[in-house]
Amino acid sequence: MNQRRQFGRLLLHSLILASCGSAATTTTTTTDTNTDTTTNTDTTTNTDTTTNTTTPLKSGSTNDATAVDVLIIGAGMAGVAAASTLRAAGKTVLILEARNRIGGRMWSWRNWGAPVELGANWIETSKGNPLVKLAKDAGVATHADPEEADELFIDTVEGRSLSESEAEELYDQIESMLDALIDAAEERDPDQDTSLRDALNDLPAYKKLDDNRRRLIESVLTQVVSDEFGAEADKLSWLGYDAGEAAYSGGNQFVIGGYDGIPTMLAGDTPIEYETIVDKISWNNDGVQVSAGDRVWEANAVIVTVPLGVLKAQSIAFEPALPAKYTDALAQLEMGLLDRCVMKFDEVFWDTEYTTFSVAGPDPAAWYQFVPLNGPLGIPALAAFNSGSKAWDLETKSDDEIKAEMLAVIKAAFDAEPTVVDMVITRWGQDPFARGAYSYVPVGGSIDARNQLAEPVSDQLYLAGEAYTNTDPSSVHGAYNSGIATAKQVLERL
Ligand SMILES: Cc1cc2nc3c(=O)[nH]c(=O)nc-3n(C[C@H](O)[C@H](O)[C@H](O)COP(=O)(O)OP(=O)(O)OC[C@H]3O[C@@H](n4cnc5c(N)ncnc54)[C@H](O)[C@@H]3O)c2cc1C
Repeated sequence: MNQRRQFGRLLLHSLILASCGSAATTTTTTTDTNTDTTTNTDTTTNTDTTTNTTTPLKSGSTNDATAVDVLIIGAGMAGVAAASTLRAAGKTVLILEARNRIGGRMWSWRNWGAPVELGANWIETSKGNPLVKLAKDAGVATHADPEEADELFIDTVEGRSLSESEAEELYDQIESMLDALIDAAEERDPDQDTSLRDALNDLPAYKKLDDNRRRLIESVLTQVVSDEFGAEADKLSWLGYDAGEAAYSGGNQFVIGGYDGIPTMLAGDTPIEYETIVDKISWNNDGVQVSAGDRVWEANAVIVTVPLGVLKAQSIAFEPALPAKYTDALAQLEMGLLDRCVMKFDEVFWDTEYTTFSVAGPDPAAWYQFVPLNGPLGIPALAAFNSGSKAWDLETKSDDEIKAEMLAVIKAAFDAEPTVVDMVITRWGQDPFARGAYSYVPVGGSIDARNQLAEPVSDQLYLAGEAYTNTDPSSVHGAYNSGIATAKQVLERL
């Protein structure tokens, strides 16, 4: 998710010609000290959690029971929000976290000094969003509303940048097509779902496009659809596309002061057991037992905040198994993918007037956006994005292959052959504790699945996180609100 839910704001950007520079390339890849698998470092060091290890509580196992009221699995935004709500109500809590850091899919990476965000980067829909105040309280700086931002749209096939009016026309055209699809979906029989792609292809306005115009339209669609959902239009449910509720409005804010400052502040001195990969949860009316290898914890209740992909992969065994209505709901949602490649150069070679470069190349689904980090972070680096199938495909490639692809696009877009000082590449799909970037509703799936997953499984077992809410799913604030709502459910029932 790059500039998610900002479709409207793109219209406001001014667009002029790009700048150039040149240099030879040498790359030093970075070694991340995290156990995450999402950097360009070899991912094999991570412990895979895909096995359904069952570790019954038995004599000989290490019983780590510390008499907490509630165990929370995962120290991402949902987990720490739930923990802070429960602790404020006087409950004792222990968080079990697989990684060696807080934040989950919020990952502020500091190898270059200033924090480069490798997961979430924006506070979306900032008007009314509690994250804005939390950022202030935590001393986490954010950039001005990006509606103030300037964007340059570069067409590398035609070798030119679009004028402001050309770009506005392009965005207007797409916006009206998507609006037409949303309107038509409201009239449609809910049992007659099809993909957003099929629906789009059937639109008379889309059918009329010539090849070049279609390529430009598809490039913007990659930004506003594939990037937003982590999946292309052919994977997405047409009927589920605009479903779900929005809690807030307004423009997004670009976080520059380390997004992880917010979960760190919320967690405070909450006890967190890091590098603890939960593999089994036993639950009954008396309480819960949670296992990680041969360690076992007991509590009155457990809130599971692991990502949808982790639950779908059955990395955690439930005993008894989750009821069918929960496993059916899990099957109705999928994990999308967004990956980020951040390249650091010896010098800035792009026009510093711009805060975003949109790029429409021969493959409109690839390398569609570059965000310069020199302005917000003082680092001469460009963050590039790939989403959906393109991102899943890129994750199978070596760092060198990815670097070569990115440099080829940079050459085409900026007419530059810069010197690469360092590079970091995320692979959220291969990360066993994420298994993708965020959830979406696939063709034939249902947004109602999120509501089902938000319901307590029992008085002892709860799910919380971005996927298990129908209000702003796939976002940091969606996860935050889900964590709080779930903690309140626990407080009502315990
Ligand atoms: C590349 C990318 C860009 C994004 N951009 C934005 C953005 O700009 N704005 C925005 O609002 N949102 C964005 N998002 C989405 C946002 O980051 C997530 O929706 C949100 O952070 C999810 O929080 P969560 O608590 O639900 O899950 P997570 O943050 O994933 O937390 C779950 C935790 O569970 C842990 N865990 C997993 N398995 C186990 C196990 N077996 N045992 C113990 N612990 C386990 C994980 O390590 C993790 O820490 C982005 C996400 C990605 C990946």
